This record gives sequence, C-alpha cells and structure tokens, in this order.
Amino acid sequence: MKNFEDYEEDIYKCSRCGLCQSVCPVYRASLNECAVSRGKFNILNGIIKGDLHFSDNVKKYLDLCTGCNACKDFCPSGINAREIFVAAKREYYKDKKLTPAQKFLNSYFLFKTLLCCTGAAAFLMRISGLTYVVKFFENIILKTGYLGKRLVLLNSLIFPVFNKKLSAKKCTKKQTAVYFEGCFNKYINDDTEKAVKFLLEQNGIGFIKKDFECCGISYLQDGNTMQFEKLMNTNINKQDCDCVYLITDCASCNFVLKEYQNYANTRAAADFSSKVTGAVELIKDINFEAIKPLKVAVHKPCHDSYDFIEVVKNIRGIDFVEVEDYDKCCGFSGKFAIQNQKISREISRQKMQHYTGKDIDFVITTCPACLLGLNQGLAEIDASKKPIAINLFVFLAKYCHRLSDAF
Ligand code: SF4
Ligand code: SF4
Repeated sequence: MKNFEDYEEDIYKCSRCGLCQSVCPVYRASLNECAVSRGKFNILNGIIKGDLHFSDNVKKYLDLCTGCNACKDFCPSGINAREIFVAAKREYYKDKKLTPAQKFLNSYFLFKTLLCCTGAAAFLMRISGLTYVVKFFENIILKTGYLGKRLVLLNSLIFPVFNKKLSAKKCTKKQTAVYFEGCFNKYINDDTEKAVKFLLEQNGIGFIKKDFECCGISYLQDGNTMQFEKLMNTNINKQDCDCVYLITDCASCNFVLKEYQNYANTRAAADFSSKVTGAVELIKDINFEAIKPLKVAVHKPCHDSYDFIEVVKNIRGIDFVEVEDYDKCCGFSGKFAIQNQKISREISRQKMQHYTGKDIDFVITTCPACLLGLNQGLAEIDASKKPIAINLFVFLAKYCHRLSDAF
C-alpha cells in the first residue's frame, strides 16, 4: 500500500488543464471547483508545501468524490486521483485524534446496527404487507416531498421481487463454492442471493455460507485503513475450507475482495483473492431467452467490468437500448451518499433522465448500491413511465429461460 508521500510526483503532474471537470459527476452536480480532481490537488499541494494540514475541512473536500475513477480514464497525465485521495485520507486518520463521538460515528458497530435496523424494518414491512401498499401508492407518495422519496427508496430496496419460490431443476452438485453474500443480501433483501443460488445450482455448483463480515469497501474508500484491515483479516480467517471459488454477486465486493492480497500481503490473503469469482463469470456462457419481449438497458457500476453487458446483450428476445452515460457513476457511493445527500441525489437524477421517456422496461445492473442510486434518481424524476431498476441475476432468474448450460 503506497503512502501519501509516494504520490507527490503524481500530484505535481497535474497540469491544471481542467479536462477532469467534464467527466466528474460530483462537479457536474455541484459546480464546486473543490470537488474536481484539480481542486483537490490544489489543496494537497498546500499540504505538501506545509501551508495546510489534514484538518476536518480538508477531509470534507477530499470526501467530495464518489471514487468513480472517471477522471483517471480521462486525465492526459494518467493520474489516479481516487487512489491519491484515499492515501491522503489515511494521513488524516493517522494525524487526527478522533473524539468519542467521531469514533462512534465511524464504528463498524454503528454500521452493523443500522443494517440490522433496516433489515428489521424490511422484515416488518414485508410481513405486514406495507411494502405492497407503498408500491401501489408510489406515485402519490413521491409527490409528498423528501420523506416520501426516502420511503419509496427504502421500499425499492426491500420489495420482494421473488413472490413465488423458485427451485432449480434437479441437479447434481459437481463443485462447491463459498458464497460471500455481502451486507445487502445478509441484512436487507436476499432476493439476489436466491437468484444466484438458483442459477448456479443448475450448473452443478453448490453453496457454503461462512457468515463473513462486510467486505470493508466503504472504510477503504474513506481512508479508515485500521477498520478496513480488521474486516479484511476477519474475512480471510473465515475462509477456512478448501474450495475452488469464492463467489460474489456484488460488483463492489468482487472488486475489494480481489484487492485483499495487495493490502494484507500474506499467503492466506493471496489464496483468498485468487479464489474470488464474480457470479457473472460462471454464467456468462449460458444462453438465455426472455420470457416475453422486453426493452432493457444497463447501468455499469464503477467497480464492474463490461463483461456483464455482453450477458445482457446476448439474451434472446430482448430489445437492448444503449443509453448515454450508461457507464457513469450513479451517485450512490457509501458514505458519500450520506454526507452529501443533495449532490448524490442530483448525480442520480442527471443519470436517470437518460433512461426515461424511452419506454425501457428494465435497467439491469450488478451492484446493490447502484440499485439504490438508480432508484434514488428515478424518485427525482416526474414521468408517467419509468424503467424498473433490477439486479442482473434476479432478472435472469425471474424473466428468462435458459436455453443451454454453461458446462
Ligand atoms: S485532467 Fe488530470 S491533469 Fe488535467 S486538471 Fe484534471 S487531474 Fe489535472
Ligand atoms: S474519482 Fe470520480 S468523483 Fe472522484 S474526482 Fe474523479 S471523477 Fe470526480
């Protein structure tokens, strides 16, 4: 892991050309010069020269970043801004003596408690049927303002897509995989887990669950390396059996679990990361057919590759629409979406306006946080027909037949 000082040369490389402005979603939504890489590099230059230090205010500006990496792909000097901001935030945590309140707000205990509370609310809304009531009156609730929009957003998270039990046709298990379920499946809504299980069991892959903790991506992104390393080491130690795959169905978990080997630098971490396999990789050779004609588009999460889009394009019977900015950030990125709600909502809105008015039935993606971003954007748009944001595996399990097996 490189330290902040190791990036000094990269920071000097910034020519202040300003090209990053045109691609930075935070700048486009806020028009705040400090949000764009160039602005943050000005601040970091001040730190290198000794004119500034890693204060709460500097951290606040460094946090104005979703970590989407769009500026890296666009920057003529090839600067990896996201990596530099994370290294700078690590210095903040090293320098700063957090108050007890700040420690509590940053704690994994609070994060897990919030997830458990959301999970309990989801359970109560589902068994009481409230989630169906909110869905039915969604358009009216959206008009009530901020709280109505938040309620619809929460409901989109927990609404059960599988209202009937799906069971895979009889299969013989040829391989066993450890399943990294991720926080969303574990605490809030396990529809995606059920769909992945359904699709993979038909391919002869059985699941073992290991009660893993969060992958740690939001702590890594925040520069809170101490908390990230605790979670990483716990997860590495829990993978204590001999398996071929460690399956993830979330683009962000998949990305960060593969990075463990670079942070822990141990044989166990290398073994762990080498087994991490995105569920997409295991289903990409299956031929699917939609159960009825459907118009679909995709949203590519910042942490995913373009592979899953090929899976979608190859589904027989769908009308695939390539939407402008389909691979741009959805605005929902861990702590960023909580700390900068207004900007986050505006990024999501700008994104989703490309998908409305085109008669699209579904927007398919592979990350639970992106589903939140897409739904957050849809809640901001007033349109008679809006697409449904859906996870790839849920879409394949619910709206497609398989025409052939992968192996
Ligand atoms: S595009 Fe790169 S070189 Fe140009 S201002 Fe942005 S970070 Fe600096
Ligand atoms: S990583 Fe994305 S959000 Fe962050 S500064 Fe670059 S373009 Fe903006």
